[in-house]
Amino acid sequence: MSRSEAVSAVRHGATLDVERLRADFPILKLKVGGKPLVYLDNAASGQMPQSVIDRLVHYRTTQHANVNRGVHTLSELATMEYEAARRTVQHFINASEDREVIFTSGTTDAINLVMHGYGRKFIGEGDEIILTTLEHHSNIVPWQMLVEERGAKIRVVPINDAGELLIEEYEKLFNERTKFVGVTHVSNALGTVNPIQSMIAFAHARGVPVLVDGAQAAPHMAVDVRDLDCDFYAFSGHKLCGPTGIGILYGKAALLERMQPFKGGGDMILSVTFEKTTYNTIPHKFEAGTPPIAAAIGLGAAIDYLATIGMDAVAAHERDLLDYATDQVGRLPGVRLIGTAAEKAAVLSFAIDGVHPHDVGTLLNEEGVAVRTGHHCAQPVMQRFKIPATSRASFAFYNTMAEVDALVAGIRAVQKVFA
Ligand SMILES: *Cc1c(COP(=O)(O)O)cnc(C)c1O
Repeated sequence: MSRSEAVSAVRHGATLDVERLRADFPILKLKVGGKPLVYLDNAASGQMPQSVIDRLVHYRTTQHANVNRGVHTLSELATMEYEAARRTVQHFINASEDREVIFTSGTTDAINLVMHGYGRKFIGEGDEIILTTLEHHSNIVPWQMLVEERGAKIRVVPINDAGELLIEEYEKLFNERTKFVGVTHVSNALGTVNPIQSMIAFAHARGVPVLVDGAQAAPHMAVDVRDLDCDFYAFSGHKLCGPTGIGILYGKAALLERMQPFKGGGDMILSVTFEKTTYNTIPHKFEAGTPPIAAAIGLGAAIDYLATIGMDAVAAHERDLLDYATDQVGRLPGVRLIGTAAEKAAVLSFAIDGVHPHDVGTLLNEEGVAVRTGHHCAQPVMQRFKIPATSRASFAFYNTMAEVDALVAGIRAVQKVFA
């Protein structure tokens, strides 16, 4: 089979050829404490395939120079590759124009950009921002900083015991002072997939713009910002088989143009005098200073890699993994699943009776199983469930059913130690 035939077979087959995909990820061959690595911490960061690593090496060894300012060959090459990566991201999320794609250092940076660029310009005293209980701290704290500065107010959409947003409560929070909505597409702590499309439509009917935190959605499902009609969509490269230090803010051009810059410096200006500075056009207005050029190009390569698999195939395999893990872990006596929403993606949070999550993580590590334990930067979720922390297994398309079995065996081993 040729490479393209193989790719096509993977894309169109009923199931992914996971073993063959795993071979693309050198780190998955590691052993941890003599045991094969079972990497189930994908919600914190994903792993990079060889093609992305090679792309980074190729850039660094043959293409690196600063972008935008040079007329020499290397600078033009670097600029071309950097802008090509922007168009790759544009097509990945189906944005209308490449200037609606802003390179940031990550989801956190993207949300802070919106807070400074939009929030500080358009949100004032007495105004209200709607967030949800499911938000990551990076979609809470910037807004708290804003409301404190402005005398504005945050209102929070509650969740039910399954970890699903109460949509009637969301709708009741709107009033004439509502100026902004921030909502996560997928909860990183529980895996809940929120009905963002209808939430966006509801907000828009009241003239309120919506920012979607897509950090946990972009790696796991096809995202179409035009279909969603979101005003802003943020995600991180390192959760998407790409490098750290790069993220994306998608914003509708009309909004981005009305916003003020977040950071001032080089490249974001058209002209500077000490009397007056004229800002550059979007997206450059929001990309002050030397951007993470290599990381942006690496993210482009990561998206190219994902495209050979297809996001629908990714989502289908992860659905199978999650169903199997939910069944297997859920039937263990003394184990409680935290987050049992009808619509979930790739995340299994759980608590073991009588064992602190930190001990769960440490003991699973001895079996080679990497999970995350803690509050997952989502303390309001923990408070809602009256627990300090959970253990969280989070899946990627390169995980296998055998790795779910290893997780289950690991949990049994933990229970034996504490029996
Ligand atoms: C990881 C994550 C973030 C923060 O991403 P960074 O890459 O650390 O900036 C924000 N929101 C959600 C839902 C996340 O999972």
